[in-house]
Amino acid sequence: MDNVRGKLVPIIYCWHCGKQMSDGIDYNARQYCAGCKPLHNAEMQKLVDQSVVIKSQLMYWRALDLLQKQWVPMHEYYKAAQVVKQRIDEKPKTFNSAPEIMACLELLRQRVRIKLQVKISDFKVDFVLRDELIVLEIDGYLHAFQRTQDWYRDEAIRKKLGAEWEVIRIPVKCIEGKVRALYDGIVQLRTEQQRVRAENHGLLPDSYSIRTMEVWANAVRKLA
Ligand SMILES: [Zn+2]
Repeated sequence: MDNVRGKLVPIIYCWHCGKQMSDGIDYNARQYCAGCKPLHNAEMQKLVDQSVVIKSQLMYWRALDLLQKQWVPMHEYYKAAQVVKQRIDEKPKTFNSAPEIMACLELLRQRVRIKLQVKISDFKVDFVLRDELIVLEIDGYLHAFQRTQDWYRDEAIRKKLGAEWEVIRIPVKCIEGKVRALYDGIVQLRTEQQRVRAENHGLLPDSYSIRTMEVWANAVRKLA
């Protein structure tokens, strides 16, 4: 505390350089000299950028650990892993989750031509498989609660790409269970979705998501 004109006032220091500052300022906020504020902001931004890089690298290794737990021949994924690692180094925000990386590794292993994080209309989708006419989305655990929004989103994407395209949504738990069923699973799901549409005036009924698990289970069974 300092005594100014008979009043006790706190001594204020710059939170960046530590210099004592003049009076007449907001005591309820951290104070910075004029030149120090941008320096502080730049420091914060650097930390955020570094954390994105670290998070993406941890996600990569976590995806490989999860894959290894599925008792797959890891050497089959080596080249795919190098491609993914390079992509992550260049663009750390490419993947949102470890299961998404696992899906990417599996598709690359099977030499499927994919595009990542593609913008279609106002939406960004996880994977586009041009040869298979599939938009692939890996859905997180909280996804079950937004089915109606997904429905509109998927139809908007199909409207843009064409009716022969299907948006295939694979829950994270499928990837975490048996990622090797992925390619067969999504190809079968596309066929199935197109068949159901043909019987329902081009629409997928609400109950359709239940069929997803049946088709997936079939694909897993075929692996054995
Ligand atoms: Zn300062």
